[in-house]
Amino acid sequence: MKYVDEFRDPHKAKVLLDNIIDIADALADDQQRPTYIMEVCGGHTHSIFRYGIENMLPPSIELIHGPGCPVCVLPRGRVDDCVAIAEQENVIFTTFGDAIRVPGSQKSLLEAKADGADVRMVYSPMDALSIAKKNPDKEVVFFGLGFETTMPSTALTVLQAEADGVTNFSLFCNHITIIPTIKAVLDSPDLQLDGFLGPGHVSMVIGNQPYGFIAEQYHRPVVVAGFEPLDILQSLWMVLKQLQAGEARVENQYNRIVPEYGNRMALEAISKVFELRQFFEWRGLGSIDHSGVQLNKQYSTYDAEKKFSTKTVTIADPESCQCGEVLKGAIKPWQCKVFGKACTPETPVGALMVSSEGACAAYYLYGGDRIDALQVEDDIEELRA
Ligand code: SF4
Repeated sequence: MKYVDEFRDPHKAKVLLDNIIDIADALADDQQRPTYIMEVCGGHTHSIFRYGIENMLPPSIELIHGPGCPVCVLPRGRVDDCVAIAEQENVIFTTFGDAIRVPGSQKSLLEAKADGADVRMVYSPMDALSIAKKNPDKEVVFFGLGFETTMPSTALTVLQAEADGVTNFSLFCNHITIIPTIKAVLDSPDLQLDGFLGPGHVSMVIGNQPYGFIAEQYHRPVVVAGFEPLDILQSLWMVLKQLQAGEARVENQYNRIVPEYGNRMALEAISKVFELRQFFEWRGLGSIDHSGVQLNKQYSTYDAEKKFSTKTVTIADPESCQCGEVLKGAIKPWQCKVFGKACTPETPVGALMVSSEGACAAYYLYGGDRIDALQVEDDIEELRA
């Protein structure tokens, strides 16, 4: 297939859906429960809601929306660190647009900007480096965020800063790595999962090989999936076929993009600049060992945490916020007490409502009937009051 329309062909989607229903219903009869499949990646969550895939699936299959949105899992203590750095004199704090509205315990970066901090949105870390070159009298900090998808461009920017002799540039590194995250999900005692849709973008960098342990040690199928509706439906069908056959393998549905062994140059840049952190805290999930990276000793002069002595204290989410339960798949977005009421994309209580890849924002945007039903429930409550 060459054109995007072909990945959205309704006739092919119907054939795949019929196959999915047949296998999922048969599995549910055997197991006396639905089949639980986690899409790890926030991009998949977005596509699943956007194209109404969740609504098309039978009750015999349930999608669990995983922790694969890096903005959503950023804990409040790290947002507070960003704000503290940004509010220092002489600092230009640069960030991708989706992180600017994530709530900290006191304020978001956007609110810090409104209060006078020099916070600027950039499209790439190289833009931040350009700002540093143009402002030699300022300290320019880049907010590095994301899984292995975005890690290579940050690593290459640090290497470029070194090559160009730029000393007023540093990185507030919040990059996270996918494999320990999936392992933590698999080890979570309150989560029942039968298989995974593997993340497409991360896999472009790391390839398929690192997922082998999921099949070998945990006996769960993994299908690395693309982001179009037919990609997702085909990948679900591939997971179900493995389950039906009693198999657990790593398959690559997204092989038009994802190389088996990953992108060598990107992996080299990552391993040159970064090292694993022993501990890294995730919003709603607690600390996951070796799940974050930091600049290694050789590049520590570019480490904003060392330049600015950040505190990174653990700060619990507000009581009304159930982001952690949504991230672990324990509840659906609309089951959160404040979903669509106190928490909307305009007034986010939790991070999952901020990023377009967050399950709550995706559901709020594309939830259709259920959102209408929630609003009707609100109207009824108001009338009763
Ligand atoms: S509705 Fe808001 S507070 Fe509730 S889980 Fe979603 S983002 Fe978090």
